[in-house]
Amino acid sequence: MNSPSDVLNSDVLNSNTLNRQAIARVSELLAALEMQAETPLTNWVNGELVAGQGEAIELLDPVTGLPLVAYRDAGRAVVEQAVEAAARAQQEWMALTASERGRRMMAAAGALLGYEETLARLESVVAGKPIRDCRGEVNKVREMFEYYAGWCDKQHGEVIPVPTSHLNYVRPVPYGVVGQITPWNAPMFTCGWQLAPAIAAGNGVVLKPSEMTPFSSVVIAMLLERSGLPRGLINIVNGVGPTTGAALTGNPGISKLVFVGSPESGRRIAQAGAERLVPSVLELGGKSANIIFADARLDDAVAGAQAAIFAAAGQSCVAGSRLLVQREVLDEVCKRLARAAGEITIGLPGDDATLMGPVQNAKQYQHITSMLETAQRQGARVLCGGKRPETLPSEATGYYLAPTVLTDVTEDMAIAQEEVFGPVVVVMPFDSEEEAVRLANATRFGLAGAVWTQDPARAHRVAARLRAGTVWINSYKAINVMSPFGGFGESGFGRSSGVEGLREYTVAQSVWVETATSASVAMGYGNGVG
Ligand code: NAD
Repeated sequence: MNSPSDVLNSDVLNSNTLNRQAIARVSELLAALEMQAETPLTNWVNGELVAGQGEAIELLDPVTGLPLVAYRDAGRAVVEQAVEAAARAQQEWMALTASERGRRMMAAAGALLGYEETLARLESVVAGKPIRDCRGEVNKVREMFEYYAGWCDKQHGEVIPVPTSHLNYVRPVPYGVVGQITPWNAPMFTCGWQLAPAIAAGNGVVLKPSEMTPFSSVVIAMLLERSGLPRGLINIVNGVGPTTGAALTGNPGISKLVFVGSPESGRRIAQAGAERLVPSVLELGGKSANIIFADARLDDAVAGAQAAIFAAAGQSCVAGSRLLVQREVLDEVCKRLARAAGEITIGLPGDDATLMGPVQNAKQYQHITSMLETAQRQGARVLCGGKRPETLPSEATGYYLAPTVLTDVTEDMAIAQEEVFGPVVVVMPFDSEEEAVRLANATRFGLAGAVWTQDPARAHRVAARLRAGTVWINSYKAINVMSPFGGFGESGFGRSSGVEGLREYTVAQSVWVETATSASVAMGYGNGVG
């Protein structure tokens, strides 16, 4: 085991390339967590901080583009320790009564209280995400633990009225150890989103956050465990996909994989699972259609369109990145949306007033700008944005892009089909309800969508025809841990949140009990076995 100071003293962390000032900011935050660590934390394994053993991973500050901090990729041996710890702790967890597990989960939710601001600030620095959004994420994690705490003693089975003399009952059984992999755009949200149902269902967990946002999940796990969860029930390993990620998906002790991220990586995770015949849940990207009919209340619809795409600088899986507008109101909606885009406060993530910060990392920034260039070459017109914002604080030299609205976009362009994952919306007109539905469904994704209209019959009719896991009517982005979430098509399969999300973490076991006093097991199909 390495103490926090061992981690601090590693060669990697003493490298001259580090931005000491930025580390100091993070260190203060960790000190506030009473963690006595002077640098960010890498892995949380079996209730201890463990240093990675692989290559150095250097993170850049999204605000400045300068080096922020470095840590070592966990590597296979650390993943193996984590899986073993989770397997041991899972037995201990299941030896408790269901009610006791519920009480401990509720205490775990409470363990985050008092640390919300510190966690939010830590994430804001590393992810470059506006502090107000980070605060929202921490609160969601607490809500998730509270919600699933209540489920611990309510997962009962069923008795099946079989046509024989047997008593047949079905019980939900945890998988054992679950491997979870999360992305950088909502690290705390996705961490709590998957940890809470996994342990409520009785599993142990090894979670790998994105290599871009490694620390908040470690801190959350430490706080949760401190509240009384068995040591090793939740383990966090950090590193990149091909090393630590692959070590996790390929570990024989993992019985289920839950992945949140891009379709490209999702495909690799599902393949790794298939190799070992391990099931997976995939929560992937989207290209969600936000449909405004001419009879919509335009003030609300435009405010909705603005939030749908520009919140989190568009780095949201459910971003309303395709705005479909009925032709009668096209010009008016475009005019109002461009104005609304220009009114968004863009600034430093740590400022309370900031509504939109930078794009999280250089690779993503290049992806967005290259998609924008291609779209313009193909004839798309930039109605607003398309470049760095004009007024920014002097230190904001990093990955900033102004809210961008594109018109003259045709359905076949990549910008209308592929996930940009940035503050870029394409506006496309439609004439009829039929055309709106056809356009909305004409991508390989199916994560979310919205309909804005004052005609309730049309709202429900269109919602029912959208091939999307979540549909909003006269709203956008409302989500809650109580309600199932997931995709169709290349947005993935399986569901998170709600009871559906819980059920992904158990498997049904059918138990047959002979109740006849003189029954014998007949050969062949005599017992009704087909
Ligand atoms: P990504 O696919 O690049 O990475 C996601 C995670 O997968 C990271 O932890 C990464 O290290 C890991 N990974 C990559 N290759 C791997 C491999 N071979 N084996 C094991 N792990 C591997 O995604 P990202 O860029 O971090 O996140 C953005 C994507 O996530 C977008 O597509 C977004 O829509 C999606 N997302 C989806 C949801 C949802 O609920 N549907 C929520 C948030 C984000």
